[in-house]
Amino acid sequence: MILPFQKGESPEFGCSTIQDVWSSNTLEKAQALIADGGYKIRMQNFVGGSFTSSPSSTTTSYIDAINPKTGKAFGQVPISSAYQVEHALRAATDEFKDWSTTPVTIRSRHLRRVADLIQEHHELFAVWESIDQGKTLPRARIEVDRAINNFNYFASFITHQQSAARVVDGMDILAYEHRSPAGVFALISPWNMPIYLLTWKMAPCLAFGCTGVAKPSEVTSMTAFLLCEVFRRAELPAGAMNVVFGDGATTGSALVRSPLVRGGVSFTGSTATGIQIRRDTADQIYKHLSLELGGKNPTLVFEDVDMDRAVKIAASAAFENQGEICLCGSRIYVQSSVYDKFVTAFTKFVETNFKCGDRVGAVVSHQHYNKIRSYLLLAQSESATFNSTSSNNSNPQDFIPPADPTDGYWIPPVILTDVPPTSRILQDEIFGPVVTISRFENDEEAVALANDNPNGLAALLLTRDGARMRSVGERLEAGMIWINCWLVRELGTPFGGMKSSGTGREGGEYSRDVFTNVRTLHMPIH
Ligand code: NAD
Repeated sequence: MILPFQKGESPEFGCSTIQDVWSSNTLEKAQALIADGGYKIRMQNFVGGSFTSSPSSTTTSYIDAINPKTGKAFGQVPISSAYQVEHALRAATDEFKDWSTTPVTIRSRHLRRVADLIQEHHELFAVWESIDQGKTLPRARIEVDRAINNFNYFASFITHQQSAARVVDGMDILAYEHRSPAGVFALISPWNMPIYLLTWKMAPCLAFGCTGVAKPSEVTSMTAFLLCEVFRRAELPAGAMNVVFGDGATTGSALVRSPLVRGGVSFTGSTATGIQIRRDTADQIYKHLSLELGGKNPTLVFEDVDMDRAVKIAASAAFENQGEICLCGSRIYVQSSVYDKFVTAFTKFVETNFKCGDRVGAVVSHQHYNKIRSYLLLAQSESATFNSTSSNNSNPQDFIPPADPTDGYWIPPVILTDVPPTSRILQDEIFGPVVTISRFENDEEAVALANDNPNGLAALLLTRDGARMRSVGERLEAGMIWINCWLVRELGTPFGGMKSSGTGREGGEYSRDVFTNVRTLHMPIH
């Protein structure tokens, strides 16, 4: 039996033990825990199967964990030093020999136990994800579901693997493929879908026999912290999965550069950081690199669409999770003949269905709020139209949030038209509740406009014409293309982007390629 974490075992906790947090499993209880402000939770690294105190706790620096809906701090995230990162990597290295040779059925059982425990504490994870990230509670619940699926999917996948074998033509030689776990991995994730994306790395890492050191975003570390308690309760072998908290410059950088990371780096985040990681690992050629980076995704709306349905899909794609999904369709292009009709219907639909505090959460941080705000100021200076149903020429001031928010980082959805074609607004990833709508005349122009961006992560195609689905769809420069739907995932299909949106694919056997080494053996048949 696993005993609950005791007070006193947790010297670095400010006011609460993990038990207090663990039992704050409803929104009311969690809000009560953090109600009177201050640092209620101090997160700790999870290394070798237990929560660890810093060897020099007095000198550890911390980043505030902030509730974006109020702008108030509720906890502290340690910035782990290179020394602490190394400590975690040693634990992962020590465990690799055992874990990599653990039978697949047993590894699978461990993953299922982790999935079951998250399921058992589903609301706990959803509540804290919502508090930490700013997303709505219903959205957070969906993402916790996906975290559970991530573990269950790979638990199942590894028990159904196949390996190719061929007889060499004209020779009595059998050639077959053999895979082995690649080694210790660095797993680094961003702030927009914290538990969803981190478990998308942890689950295959463990499933394919690798051990790992994970580093969640310093902006949203809370559910990774809770996940550590799940690993402890699930009795995952000590050192198989370790978590270090910290920023990119100190902790993340030390992690990716360490020679103890023998397997590779699975990274999801911005293109700029992806480039930095490629530079930092360039001379460690043995490291597998999977880089899932930024997006600036087009939504193409053709004149033959069912307008109500198209509006609904395009609006979700633009504003789900406040536009903070790398796959959001933030550049909408509409065929000229239905442009006005679409803009009117879309604006009305968004105003009715995407209200702050209801379907739209707060954006993740003050820094990100300022970034989004700067693009709205740019739109104003470029004389773009800020659309609303209240008047044809809405005043941009009504849409630009205050420079100094006093009660959380709230930005209502913004729909921009008449944005100059050369504007940075059409090129840069804003990653917030801001969408542009522009026109196109025909299929050729639609493809050209969609592809006119350095990124190539996702694209949406809204049309009822089956021939066009292929003729346009197959020319879009994006790794993920959705036709008359959005954000649907089958976890065995390859996920990833083209161009500046990254290299490598993850999902099913593509994740297996990331986390294993394949060798070909040749042997006489007799
Ligand atoms: P970011 O690149 O700033 O940070 C991502 C992670 O990398 C964080 O954990 C951060 O601490 C760490 N990091 C930063 N510098 C590092 C360094 N030098 N070495 C190692 N680690 C370092 O990204 P973000 O702002 O957290 O996330 C938003 C970005 O993530 C957007 O561009 C978005 O499109 C992208 N994203 C991509 C996908 C995808 O699947 N392609 C999914 C979600 C988010």
